[in-house]
Amino acid sequence: MNHNPAHNLALEEMDKACLLHPATSIADHLANGPRIMAEASGVHVTDTRGNRFLDGAAGLWCVNVGYGRKEIVEAVNAQMSRLPFFHSFTSMSNEPSIRLGDKVLRWAPEGMSKVIFGSGGSDANDTNIKLVWYYNNLRGMPDKKKIISRDRAYHGVTIGAGSLTAMPVYHQKFDLPLPQIRYTRSVDMFRDKPADMSEPDYSKLLAGELEKLILSEGPETVGAFIAEPVMGTGGVLPPPEGYFQEVQAVLDKYDVLMIADEVICGFGRLGARFGSEFYGIRPDIMTMAKGLSSGYLPLSASVINDRIWAVLEETAPQMASFGHGFTYSAHPACAAAALANIEILERENLVGNAAKMGALLKTRLKETIGDSPIVGDIRGEGMMIGLELVKDRETKEAFDLSLKTAGKVQAKGYENLILVRTLPHRDVIAMSPPLSMTEENVEALVAGVKASVDAVADAYKADRLI
Ligand code: PMP
Repeated sequence: MNHNPAHNLALEEMDKACLLHPATSIADHLANGPRIMAEASGVHVTDTRGNRFLDGAAGLWCVNVGYGRKEIVEAVNAQMSRLPFFHSFTSMSNEPSIRLGDKVLRWAPEGMSKVIFGSGGSDANDTNIKLVWYYNNLRGMPDKKKIISRDRAYHGVTIGAGSLTAMPVYHQKFDLPLPQIRYTRSVDMFRDKPADMSEPDYSKLLAGELEKLILSEGPETVGAFIAEPVMGTGGVLPPPEGYFQEVQAVLDKYDVLMIADEVICGFGRLGARFGSEFYGIRPDIMTMAKGLSSGYLPLSASVINDRIWAVLEETAPQMASFGHGFTYSAHPACAAAALANIEILERENLVGNAAKMGALLKTRLKETIGDSPIVGDIRGEGMMIGLELVKDRETKEAFDLSLKTAGKVQAKGYENLILVRTLPHRDVIAMSPPLSMTEENVEALVAGVKASVDAVADAYKADRLI
């Protein structure tokens, strides 16, 4: 690492001169420049200025096993030396991707049948849209193509996945969404569920809205519904009790496929292997990425169940070829990284640790900042926790978003040497640390979050904003 200030400045200027950063305010970036990360180990990341942060976000919800895992580096190194690349078109294959396919199916819920690999969550969701369309074309149902997503969902940014994403900033000026996409009411127990309504009744209400939408569109035109088990970027929103059971009953009734987007929730984040397992979801298609390789190399997977596979297999003799896939589908080095990653998850029982440390994190946050005047809600499952900031705890009145209250807490977090994330459309601080966190790490994260929240609350009091 280089602590030479002149060198850092040169790098920062070079960044501004040559990079367009994703999901970044261009004006802010040009004014304030980048924060350049240099190295990482365990649950800590160090920037080029020498600040060592506890990474309460696991990168972008993805470094499930933590940083600096030599086993992954060595597995990739060995694979790179042996066979750095080969494609999987036209029946070509390689050992790590075969073994990974087998491993993914062993981890997945019962009934999942085949895996097709990609490079990221967005391309996997585009693959899933195409699979829904393909499946229904093969079944002789060419009109059954609409896909229902949920308000405020995030499923990626490619043309298909970006259309499933339901946030204005990802649509406006990009001419999205595609015309085949619809949105239904989302889960939100903090802001949307009436106080006097039980969770099961709220689940019935939401499933009822989904059914109304399917009926108004015409069930013969609706191919699939997509949801994250716990909605992540949309606000860290867990489903109410019974939600997925109610939803799946509706989907079954109208022959609509269930796509579980497990990009964040998968590979242990909720303290179960998958969110589908945690909530008893029976997916027809699963989207996996992030925790699949813990971000060490880019990798995603679309996994289809027996029902879809049966149609593909049956119609195979009449098909020229399955006309989909990427140069890097089943990349051997990425597959080797993922295999080593999953071995670590298994060997260290990080799924169990996520359940334990996640519960501790939530409890300790409630104990330390549960009474803060600007904390409205502390929610989540396992290592996926959200903190919603409010102006008034009684009425749940939100702060004016232009105040960027969550952004202020995040900025204080940098001073307190913790990394947490803000979300695009409400004042929520998202925490999704590596699943390898220890009790000591949890206490350090909680202390950093408390110091940051308190600092913003004190400043707001002084400015009479609360
Ligand atoms: N689905 C979900 C639920 C996600 O959170 C994300 C990324 N945060 C994606 C899809 C898109 O993944 P990627 O950024 O790898 O394309």
